[in-house]
Amino acid sequence: MQHILQREQPVLREIARSILTEEIGTAKLDKIIVDMETALGEQKDGIAIAAPQIGENLRLFVVSGSLLKKADKNYRGEGGYLVFINPEILKKSREKSDVEEGCLSVRWLYGKVKRSIRVTLRALNEKGEKVERGASGLLAQIFQHEVDHLNGILFTDKADELWEMSEEEIRELQGK
Ligand code: ZN
Repeated sequence: MQHILQREQPVLREIARSILTEEIGTAKLDKIIVDMETALGEQKDGIAIAAPQIGENLRLFVVSGSLLKKADKNYRGEGGYLVFINPEILKKSREKSDVEEGCLSVRWLYGKVKRSIRVTLRALNEKGEKVERGASGLLAQIFQHEVDHLNGILFTDKADELWEMSEEEIRELQGK
């Protein structure tokens, strides 16, 4: 089982460093990406994960396209894992909404956070190709949550309301 760091770990509070072009496609970085995908695959309620959550101080996050599809009926993008290296939010809608959020590194707290309803993100994929994509709904929320991770910010810093749920309660909600 891939260990996911919890919020008292200092690496989660650091500004993660940018990944160099020459690191992209190396066995070392590819292994980190696989470890992140494994960590995500082992969690029942996680759709995305940032590198600091497995102890790697790097600007990188991974989204599970297939879980996103299940969670957001409006998502029309690809399945599989989407990799975002050195992501930058280029644009954020002024319009925000209160959304419920949790985090694999903040077990088992949930809260309400204000997030822009649309964002545009620029990043590199695992092949080092430039990607720029607009997102709304859950993916827009994920982009903001994950970029926060790379800047040492956890959703609990921003949440207006926080509550605790047990792992069993979550399973029941999800009917698992
Ligand atoms: Zn998180």
